[in-house]
Amino acid sequence: MYATFHIDHIIPRKHGGLDFNDNLCIACPDCNGYKGSDIATFDPLTGDLTPFYNPREQDWDEHFELEIDMTIVGLTPEGRATIFLLQMNMQRRVIERYEAWMRNEYPCENPNSESRQ
Ligand SMILES: [Zn+2]
Repeated sequence: MYATFHIDHIIPRKHGGLDFNDNLCIACPDCNGYKGSDIATFDPLTGDLTPFYNPREQDWDEHFELEIDMTIVGLTPEGRATIFLLQMNMQRRVIERYEAWMRNEYPCENPNSESRQ
């Protein structure tokens, strides 16, 4: 599936977020749609209210890990909360991730990369 990426306000305008680069990121339509104007949700492991991963301030590799089955695991409360609310492991999205990886179009290295055909 190909889609045009959206420019997302990390902190939405309704929460006082500004139109500066530090508050903007590129998001796929699915992630942007699920996030909406939210800024936090409950960590599914602890139940604690947790802000989302901030791609401008935090390192992806510290918060997420791509598994062999192309699901993404949250390594921190922010990672788990973000995966949960953005539904990053919905079956259709995992299949799309796998298909992109097979076409050499997925930016992350799969830990099982030797199996790419
Ligand atoms: Zn996305």
